[in-house]
Amino acid sequence: MKLKIAIQKSGRLYEDSIKLLKDCGIDVRNGMNKLKAEAENFPLEVFFLRDDDIPQYVADKVADIGIVGENVLYEKQKAVTVVEKLGFSKCRLAVGVGKDENYTGAQYLQGKTIATSYPVLVRKFLDDNNINAEIHEISGSVEIAPGIGLSDAIVDLVSSGSTLFMNGLKETETILKSEAVLVRNNELSEEKLAILSSLVFRMQAVKKAKN
Ligand code: ATP
Ligand code: ZN
Repeated sequence: MKLKIAIQKSGRLYEDSIKLLKDCGIDVRNGMNKLKAEAENFPLEVFFLRDDDIPQYVADKVADIGIVGENVLYEKQKAVTVVEKLGFSKCRLAVGVGKDENYTGAQYLQGKTIATSYPVLVRKFLDDNNINAEIHEISGSVEIAPGIGLSDAIVDLVSSGSTLFMNGLKETETILKSEAVLVRNNELSEEKLAILSSLVFRMQAVKKAKN
């Protein structure tokens, strides 16, 4: 019996996900060009996937557990359980507007158009704040949308803010603070839960050692 974990194939979550497993004493042979790899010394099988697909795969039990950003997890709204916050890939989902705009608060967005790759989270934010605004869903390069006249504002992931700055935008409201989390399928067998708890025990030890 092995526990199946889904991690990002390449990108901002990949290195830290592999490093976390390594720090837990689990060796995964580099699977950059492979879909699957087996850990040598722990009952773990690793699947390399696009981060966007991880919540679905865990919900469907194609993978038992996964490492994914909270931003993707809450946008996708799949039924999975958060086991542990992992403390890496920290970023925020934030509103960006033209740097010279007179932004006084969320009501600025009333009647505006907003470009984003996070339509679900943006819609929720707008509804919570009683704002009527139009959402333009685009899949990448969201930060250029105001400059080309596609939208008045954007909602995108920000870490340093330099991408916004380079595109003549300033950061305003934070919609969600995000970091990588370990998620699991809602209905794992006792046997799989036992493997998971020994993995989580190691992860917690790694976290403590860092503090
Ligand atoms: P994939 O090909 O797997 O779909 P991607 O291009 O969607 O990759 P990445 O840019 O690698 O995704 O980001 C993966 C995750 O890393 C994000 O969903 C987010 O949780 C986190 N992240 C941390 N900092 C940032 C940042 N500054 N910009 C974007 N994502 C960030
Ligand atoms: Zn992605």
